[in-house]
Amino acid sequence: MKNNTSAQLFEKAKNFFPGGVNSPVRAFRSVGGTPLFIDKGKGSHIWDADGNELVDYCCSWGPLILGHANEKVLNAVEKTMRNGTSFGAPTRLENELAELILSNNPFIEKIRFVSSGTEAVMSAIRLARGFTGRNKILKFEGCYHGHSDSLLVKAGSGLVTFGNTSSAGVPESFVNETIVVSLNNKKAVEEAFAQFHNQIACIIIEPIPANNGLLLQDKDYLQFLRDICTKNGTLLLFDEVISGFRVGFTGAAGYYNIKPDIITYGKIIGGGFPVGAYGASKEIMSKISPEGGVYQAGTLSGNPVAMSAGIAQLSECLKPNFYKKLESKTQKLLSGLSQFKTKNFKVFSVGSIFWIAFTDKDKIQTAEDIDADSMQYFRTMYHHLLEHGIYMGPSGYEVGFMSEAHSDDDITKTIAAFHKALQHVQ
Ligand SMILES: *Cc1c(COP(=O)(O)O)cnc(C)c1O
Repeated sequence: MKNNTSAQLFEKAKNFFPGGVNSPVRAFRSVGGTPLFIDKGKGSHIWDADGNELVDYCCSWGPLILGHANEKVLNAVEKTMRNGTSFGAPTRLENELAELILSNNPFIEKIRFVSSGTEAVMSAIRLARGFTGRNKILKFEGCYHGHSDSLLVKAGSGLVTFGNTSSAGVPESFVNETIVVSLNNKKAVEEAFAQFHNQIACIIIEPIPANNGLLLQDKDYLQFLRDICTKNGTLLLFDEVISGFRVGFTGAAGYYNIKPDIITYGKIIGGGFPVGAYGASKEIMSKISPEGGVYQAGTLSGNPVAMSAGIAQLSECLKPNFYKKLESKTQKLLSGLSQFKTKNFKVFSVGSIFWIAFTDKDKIQTAEDIDADSMQYFRTMYHHLLEHGIYMGPSGYEVGFMSEAHSDDDITKTIAAFHKALQHVQ
């Protein structure tokens, strides 16, 4: 596979950006080698700067549920753009996207648009603190919630620990407000409530944890979190930046039929443009400025171009059988891959999200269950998949996404590519 042009562009980029990139995983450090610089995408395919054509299962890390350069999204965006790109004043498009979401989602009554998933989560945490008048938050090892200070923490060694910062530049005093426990562990959560009685503003969880492998939780566990929150006057915050509009229009809340108090969205909601959102009941949302005392604002919030992309994309998601078709396509890929057993090769999935792991376990529900040594197999497989025209997120901890644009031919080609790549792993 020729990649001279990407390699040259990467060398140049290193002069401009730390590590040559504007977001760390893009640098290919987990798999080694040169990141591909992408020139264009159409449907399920992307073309890199050297002209290589690849089937794309990264899909911009999830937002592109219709695939690249979808005509309906492009048309909507173009039409809006011709009338100006930003006003910093309300537009009818914000109403339209909000109505589309709220009238099809029984789990939230009001919403606020922001510009990224990180911003949505950061604001939702402030809201939880403002609403409850409490400071501490509880999060889980193995869940990612964007890069705001109080969430860049990882677990220490005890059952219930204050986080250790997982980034330089985060004051210890911030981290002392974040409690970190293992997923799938009721005892740790009970212990945390015993220890920090009346101090926990919210539990934040990715109800479908998909940023550190795919750590699917039992419904029983999520229900347990719902119940313990209710009992303690703590809010339950579902971070659905990945799972929202992905495992169904109503995300994981609908998938498990569990009602959290606050939900955050991102990725798919913006149709490939920078949009995030958080929503809750009218009562909780009334705490947000200018109605309430929790301040949150944004120059480009509810940007009309981004809103029209979101409207166009989510309208497609609402069509009958949209999610069913996506899921059956994913199942088709999975059943093709399930014949391969190299080094305990396994694929875990939910809806149109899938994750590849080399493991002897049949279920992986905590970060500790992931075998770091097995990542060497992923690295080898990854580069051979590229050679055979398959592109995925460049890390064994990242999940893959099926889009509406993936065809039967793509899937057949993908299975054949895995067959070849896994022979090299062997
Ligand atoms: C991607 C993601 C975020 C961060 O969103 P950005 O748009 O990258 O800031 C937060 N939470 C979850 C669950 C995510 O998947």
